[in-house]
Amino acid sequence: MKIGFIGLGHMGGPMAKNLRAAGHAVRGFDLSPAALDAARAADIEVVESADEAVAGAQVVITMLPAGRHVLDLYAGTDARTGILGAAPPDTLFIDSSTIAVDEARRAHDLAVDAGHRFLDAPVSGGVVGAENGTLAFMVGGDEGDFAQAVPLLESMGRRVVHCGGPGLGQAAKVCNNMLLAVSQIAVAEAFVLGERLGLTHQTLFDVASNATGQCWALTTNCPVPGPVPTSPANRDFQPGFAGALMAKDLGLADQAIELAGVDARMGRLARDMYVAYADGEGSDRDFSGIIRSIRAHSTTATQGAQR
Ligand code: NAD
Repeated sequence: MKIGFIGLGHMGGPMAKNLRAAGHAVRGFDLSPAALDAARAADIEVVESADEAVAGAQVVITMLPAGRHVLDLYAGTDARTGILGAAPPDTLFIDSSTIAVDEARRAHDLAVDAGHRFLDAPVSGGVVGAENGTLAFMVGGDEGDFAQAVPLLESMGRRVVHCGGPGLGQAAKVCNNMLLAVSQIAVAEAFVLGERLGLTHQTLFDVASNATGQCWALTTNCPVPGPVPTSPANRDFQPGFAGALMAKDLGLADQAIELAGVDARMGRLARDMYVAYADGEGSDRDFSGIIRSIRAHSTTATQGAQR
């Protein structure tokens, strides 16, 4: 297939590389010269503009930082026109950036009004997943468009799920990440409380991982060193998934909570905690490192906490 790929950063670069390796003709564009150099080295045809990348394409994939980048690129700003006007009629636009549900729906409407088709297809799995072609795609949009996209998405990922109509890929992503953030904080609080009461990390892990407290944040991303040797806590919280990215996703969750009018107090509190963490060491540390903020904000042990 002829694919235009825009946004060749940490995620988009290796994703485009995997598409090329699967035999597709990939024309790439990015604003960063370093990203373009890396793409060239991966045998991707690098072009001078986004319009050039989408000219003659059957599918256009975007992997950009945030919703405003996607909407500006699609529809244009100021005197610039957008790529929706530069692509051939009936092009399939797939946006894999993590953006708000209502922004994805706006992108869908813009694309359809311009005579194209659109899928929101955010991913989980991080840079390692992008490099290894093991991403999980959560896809929103028309079923027929989804069926056409599956083979392409499978050359970049391992799991491809159709979540429903436009915006529902982003909805699935935001719900999952809100759940993950809340559970990671809860696991961290339980370990700090256990420490103060005199429990060893290993004992609490052995009990909770075999009881009702069991969850991914405990059994894979355990926030204390020792019980799970591969978790970021064993390497000074090198990410993994950086606190800043979690803060961004929780900002999108907050927008969705507002849109839907849900009483999601835990999600909102998690967002506040991750924004504060991302302002400090969480900018480049794994999100499980929030345990250090919880320790730092805890008072010194009260008399009688340990016996
Ligand atoms: P990144 O900053 O490394 O890459 C984004 C790229 O987009 C940059 O190279 C930038 O130059 C380019 N860009 C911005 N505006 C552009 C424009 N108008 N035209 C062309 N290029 C433009 O970010 P990333 O880590 O690759 O993340 C991309 C998206 O994937 C984000 O929405 C992020 O939330 C999501 N995501 C990231 C991860 C992760 O672990 N990094 C995991 C899951 C999802």
